[in-house]
Amino acid sequence: ETHTNGYSISSLNIPKVHFTKLFINGEFVDSVSGKTFETIDPRTEEKIADIAEGDKADVDLAVEAARAAFDHGPWPRMSGSERGKIMMKFVNLVEEHLEEIAALDALDVGKVLSHGKAREIPFAVNTLRYYAGATDKIHGKTLKLANQLQGYTLYEPIGVVGHIIPWNFPVGMFFFKIGPAMAAGCTMVVKPAEQSPLSALYCAHLAKLAGVPDGVINVITGYGPTAGAAISSHMDIDCVSFTGSTEVGRLIMQAAAMSNLKSVSLELGGKSPLIVFDDVDVDSAINLALMGGFANKGEYCVCSSRIFVQEGIYDEFVTKIASYTKGLTVGDPFDPSTMQGPQADKAQYEKVLSYIEHGKRQGATLLTGGNPCREKGYYIEPTIFTDVKDDMLIATEEIFGPVMCVFKFKTIEEAIARANSTSYGLAAGIATKDLNIANTVSRSIRAGIIWINCYLAFDADSPYGGYKMSGFGREFGMEALYKYLQVKSVVTPVHNSPW
Ligand code: ADP
Repeated sequence: ETHTNGYSISSLNIPKVHFTKLFINGEFVDSVSGKTFETIDPRTEEKIADIAEGDKADVDLAVEAARAAFDHGPWPRMSGSERGKIMMKFVNLVEEHLEEIAALDALDVGKVLSHGKAREIPFAVNTLRYYAGATDKIHGKTLKLANQLQGYTLYEPIGVVGHIIPWNFPVGMFFFKIGPAMAAGCTMVVKPAEQSPLSALYCAHLAKLAGVPDGVINVITGYGPTAGAAISSHMDIDCVSFTGSTEVGRLIMQAAAMSNLKSVSLELGGKSPLIVFDDVDVDSAINLALMGGFANKGEYCVCSSRIFVQEGIYDEFVTKIASYTKGLTVGDPFDPSTMQGPQADKAQYEKVLSYIEHGKRQGATLLTGGNPCREKGYYIEPTIFTDVKDDMLIATEEIFGPVMCVFKFKTIEEAIARANSTSYGLAAGIATKDLNIANTVSRSIRAGIIWINCYLAFDADSPYGGYKMSGFGREFGMEALYKYLQVKSVVTPVHNSPW
């Protein structure tokens, strides 16, 4: 089957890769050094393609293009509705090519193809559409000031933005980042993670087809300490938006501070709790736990890796969740019956297995799972530990894999205290029918998003981000758009005002 743009997929839906070079100023180009790196198929541990390896020299070229597009190009100067029209065209192209994009991510990081098609990419499309619709709704305030002065605020695009993105939602993250920055009128350099370069390059091509002017979106594939660091320390980038680990977030903030004090937003790690009270229907609470803990193979910063279950239903919950978990099918992400694909890469796979070993060594009970499955590929069984002490490594550190810990609690106060006893604060879930409990707990948990009787309920209009060491700044909503705008006050005297 051959699609438009020469894109082809085999009968197994395994895509052929066409875009492997850096995207700078509207063109696909080799890296200055001529170097490439391999992107690996986590199903087979074999090479998918050689990808251009960008580093500082390429970031410089991309920033030059983005700077020129910002200082002299049409993008920040056109009306909001004109920008929105081009973005809407982009939205439509992404929607038309949803199948190919989902297949590229399935190949690159082992995402279940049907999930990408049904959830992640439609959500990415909605997010881009949301910001396309926001372009003509950006406005400031009028100010009646003291001392015979009046003023107004102008919202202006912040300038050239650097987006450094992770591999767990390659295409989703690409659009969550570029959508609000595009709407604001910014130009940008995007660095996808080295594990997942394919879908961003493909989408850059779609942006060009949609008529996004050259230089507005540049994509530099490459490694973090080289290409990523060149972005965070660049003197001509005005703002860096990062999603990834807390350790790297620290490095990015430090580089921003030591270079030009560019503004920073960080969406970092998590160790999110789901608190299940004993008034709920156990089966539906288990559904939430399975979704929160194992969706996207646990490669989710909001993964509900800590499940607190109230004592009245604890035994039933544990027995049932063990048997449901054994029924989850782990397999090839292109197979329609698969519920969980392989971990994204070898390093992650080994890290998750080592956490499982730690859990066993520290004396937690392995309720189910715990082993690699399949001879080839980075497949791990969905894993649940019980009898976990709050200070064990598996209870405190982000595992980023299909590993959950189930804890027992007695009172609401205890649940709140233990749920908050983490350095992270990204998300939390509450399962209860009691409105008072839901209200009290949602206000008491220090996290950026609280889901009551749902989990992973993301929406383009619902801002999301970290408390504590999960970072700062928000994705989604108008909040994300304001990260990419500067506010300027314009003040002028008024003479003989009657008021
Ligand atoms: P993970 O640990 O989940 O792989 P990382 O935080 O290491 O997440 O990576 C997220 C993104 O940050 C990737 O695009 C990666 O290349 C980039 N990155 C890694 N190290 C650095 C660094 N020192 N400076 C800038 N970006 C980096």
